[in-house]
Amino acid sequence: MTHTTEPSITHGRNPTLRLGEHRVTVLTDGAVQLHPLHWFPDSTRDDWSGRNSSALDSTGYIPAPITALLVEHRDRALLIDTGYGAHSAAAEDTIATIGNLYGGHLPTALARHGRDAADIDTVAFTHLHDDHVGWGFPSGPDTPRLFPRAAYVASAAEWAQGERQSAAVTTRAASTGDEIFPGVRAWAAPGHTEGHTAYVLSAGGRRLIAFGDVFHVPDQFAHPDWTCAMDAEPTTAVRTRHAMAAELTRPDTLAFATHFAESPLGRLRERRGVPQWTALDV
Ligand SMILES: [Zn+2]
Repeated sequence: MTHTTEPSITHGRNPTLRLGEHRVTVLTDGAVQLHPLHWFPDSTRDDWSGRNSSALDSTGYIPAPITALLVEHRDRALLIDTGYGAHSAAAEDTIATIGNLYGGHLPTALARHGRDAADIDTVAFTHLHDDHVGWGFPSGPDTPRLFPRAAYVASAAEWAQGERQSAAVTTRAASTGDEIFPGVRAWAAPGHTEGHTAYVLSAGGRRLIAFGDVFHVPDQFAHPDWTCAMDAEPTTAVRTRHAMAAELTRPDTLAFATHFAESPLGRLRERRGVPQWTALDV
């Protein structure tokens, strides 16, 4: 492993929000730089200059945090995705679509929030890419699981990939409508992967949709037809982005966006026919 310049992501605070009896908290594990033209091959240099230039860091990449969402309800705790884990890679060692990549801060963020990893009783994965499963599976046979009590939830299609299921954990397959935790239901959102799943928390008269990697950056709301180089099923992914955007603009709906830099907690509103993401002030 070579030295990695960490993308500019702020650690040291966990944005948190109450919905009824639930509390949701963003835990940041690390960050990844996305190459705008490689990640979104349908986009052009003009899309990233001018108005959007603030979306890029000084090296021309999109800085994207790698986050997880803690959902607490009474004495129970759910974690949606588990970050990248204690690894890093420099741009020259990663694929062309990304630059520097690192994780490792999730346990610290959890501790800062006053939670022990053993408190987590359910871990739900949107999908099983490396930046979502990092702390969920031991990196070697001698490494203890970070979440010793948790049952692991993902869609059947994700588990069918097989690679991850060999770990000695309790796994459950969730499909649309299944309540995986009090007030939280699975919702199939395929395209990024075949079994990619969103999770919808309904509480206190509001909904919060954790949409995983349906969108990686807010710019996609204006360009839902842009292909993402990492989408396994591009046509399905476009359809899912349109459906998700429509859902997000419904009243009393908030969202958790795993990779949005400004704040992963926000809401989508139509302004003059253009959907615009607004980060919540939390
Ligand atoms: Zn991701």
